[in-house]
Amino acid sequence: MTNKSVPFVDLTRQFVDLEDDFVDIFRSIGRSGQYILGDALKSFEEEMADYCGVKHAVGVANGTDALILGMKALGIGPGDEVITVPNSFISSVGAIMTVGATPRFVDVKNDLNMDPSHLERAINSKTKAIVPVHWTGRPADMDAICEIAEPKGISVLEDAAQAIGAMYRGKRVGGLGVVGGFSLHPLKNLHVYGDGGVLTTNSTDVYEEVLILRNHGLKDRSTCVKWGMNSRLDNLQAAIASRKLKMLDALNDRFRDIAQIYREELGDIVEVPNDQDHEYSVYHNFVIQTDSRNDLMEYLKREHDIHTAIHYPKLIHTQPAAKSLGYVEGDFPNAERIVKRMLSLPIFPELTKDEIFSVVEAIRQFYN
Ligand SMILES: *Cc1c(COP(=O)(O)O)cnc(C)c1O
Repeated sequence: MTNKSVPFVDLTRQFVDLEDDFVDIFRSIGRSGQYILGDALKSFEEEMADYCGVKHAVGVANGTDALILGMKALGIGPGDEVITVPNSFISSVGAIMTVGATPRFVDVKNDLNMDPSHLERAINSKTKAIVPVHWTGRPADMDAICEIAEPKGISVLEDAAQAIGAMYRGKRVGGLGVVGGFSLHPLKNLHVYGDGGVLTTNSTDVYEEVLILRNHGLKDRSTCVKWGMNSRLDNLQAAIASRKLKMLDALNDRFRDIAQIYREELGDIVEVPNDQDHEYSVYHNFVIQTDSRNDLMEYLKREHDIHTAIHYPKLIHTQPAAKSLGYVEGDFPNAERIVKRMLSLPIFPELTKDEIFSVVEAIRQFYN
């Protein structure tokens, strides 16, 4: 087996594979003269709702807006508290701040997902929502979270940005809470060529509210019923997303196959994620845990030109922007321990077998 350099991600490979289809799509949308809020968007929304097993899907400008619009539609705003985790991408919390609510954090389990056993203590009379994140494409413990939230009238909004296609007890994420927020950002498992997002819901009230809010608060062309946003998925990106949705299961199979190879080949030397029986994870990232993380990362880059990443090196409660929330280091011991030990290995559908085994062998060499 030859050692060769491995990129963390290479988006051009998938583009080249599908380039002819994309040219056809561009031609067809271009010639239709319909670029915003048209048939291509409507089709994608129906296909996405079908795929996720929910009543409604709405194409929006990005995954962050899906969360913002979901919270706005539920009437969450100033004076309300929303519980999430400190180890997400910052936008889970940025969305909460943007609607004027106050984020509250709870610690995570060793699988990097929300630990429901901390929820009761974080809930008070101001708590209006919980935003579990299906981190790395692995579903959060939704039964435990919903069992705590529902009797108290607290809404659960899934941050499913990393988890399109993932399943929990046989059900797709996005339909497990009141609202699901998906991102179509270039680095996500189903991506378009720019920004994009989707909100999913089984609530027709939320759906109708979001349709208005994403389009300037307009009920029809000339009637503005509330102040809204401009947050739409344009027809070109929607048509591309439709094309990609047809291959999503195959793409996710690749993520899972690569994860399985890493797990088998590396499980005896580093900590690897293990799916539980009721989880169908889509491995947006493959995160190992090891005490020698920094040295390993540096070694892979220096000796083998193998690129890895840390998602994310700075927990949200320690970000400068979060200072006013009053958290300090030490508040979330599990997240803070894991953040120093975790490393994301290259994983994307077009990664070759040679590349996967280059990563495996380089890591084994490091530990020898
Ligand atoms: C990518 C991501 C988002 C934001 O999605 P955008 O489309 O970039 O706005 C939100 N939450 C998580 C967990 C993400 O990974």
